Amino acid sequence: MSKFNVILPCGGSGTRSGLSYNKLLLNVGGMPLLEKTLNIFYHDDVTKIIIAYNKDDLGSIKQIIKGRENILLCEGGVSRTQSIKNALEYVEDDCDFVIIHDGARCFLSRECLERSMRDAVEYGTSVLYVNSVDSLRCVKDKISSPVDRNDIVRIQTPQIFKKSEITQAYALAKSDFSDDATLYEEYIKKPIHLTLGSEENIKVTTPADCEKINGGYLIGNGWDTHRLDVGRDLILGGIKIPHDKGLVAHSDGDVLIHAIMDAILSAMHERDIGVLFPDSDDKYKNISSALLLKEVLALAKTKGLAVKSISAVIMAQKPKLSPHIPTIQSNLANIMDVEENCVSLSATTTEKLGMTGREEGISVSSVAVLSKI
Ligand code: MG
Repeated sequence: MSKFNVILPCGGSGTRSGLSYNKLLLNVGGMPLLEKTLNIFYHDDVTKIIIAYNKDDLGSIKQIIKGRENILLCEGGVSRTQSIKNALEYVEDDCDFVIIHDGARCFLSRECLERSMRDAVEYGTSVLYVNSVDSLRCVKDKISSPVDRNDIVRIQTPQIFKKSEITQAYALAKSDFSDDATLYEEYIKKPIHLTLGSEENIKVTTPADCEKINGGYLIGNGWDTHRLDVGRDLILGGIKIPHDKGLVAHSDGDVLIHAIMDAILSAMHERDIGVLFPDSDDKYKNISSALLLKEVLALAKTKGLAVKSISAVIMAQKPKLSPHIPTIQSNLANIMDVEENCVSLSATTTEKLGMTGREEGISVSSVAVLSKI
């Protein structure tokens, strides 16, 4: 079994990302970007990870690696090349391969990593690449000419080398290299082996990348139940459904819209509709829930969020709702100003069991997915 050490050059200030702090500390799905990158290397064959840090970030990085025993910190240098040179000093004596990986490539998949490690063992080196899907042109002296994209690949990290060779190459390096494979070829004089990477393995570099990362989906769920009684209209999703009973409430009792609103509010980490539109407030008496839904969506908009998808299950023994589902879906899509296929409803009886089964009330369970506008 080959033994691998990982070097993460994290000495940059992240100025290109447009953030006021190092992009490696950016929150990605609830954890700092660097922590997400470190998690990729929870691997039996990886025995040590060396982080070349920027001393401004030392406190934050120490927090991130708390409790992780196989991680060692070393001070980064003035350049990436210098940072890796420093880190190579700490590589374990008995390690066979060194994996050099950008700290900001936190989306490297386990599959790509393992493919690369296997290739390194077989061929001595492994450098991840992706093909270019765009047409390419070469620009010289303001004149452009076409380039065959089949002749070009884009290089990613990780790049994996034998410890002895990469140590030798860096010891010989007299200038800065932005890419380890180029440095290796320059000083070791051997071709590198290319391993197929992935388009998902992006390096967070610009504000747009940061946006993309933080622009993931938000999910929330909501539930509501209302009692059925005579003398009330039955309103579901803003549509009046013919029935001898309706839902009792301070508002119009639209249990479906209520559950949807709570799901949307939950996705944006807001309190529920009971807090937002209290039933002690007369201005909400008999109010159309569709109007309240519009208010909730306006709130989402102020947070830069939009509804991507709504799913709801209506639990009612009677009336039979199936024929009304397309109309309700269409009306909800209209209220929310989304495509019809963003709203999915289903209706079920509860087999005459429980409160809904006894036709005492109707319940709705809903899930909302929001995304950045
Ligand atoms: Mg309600």
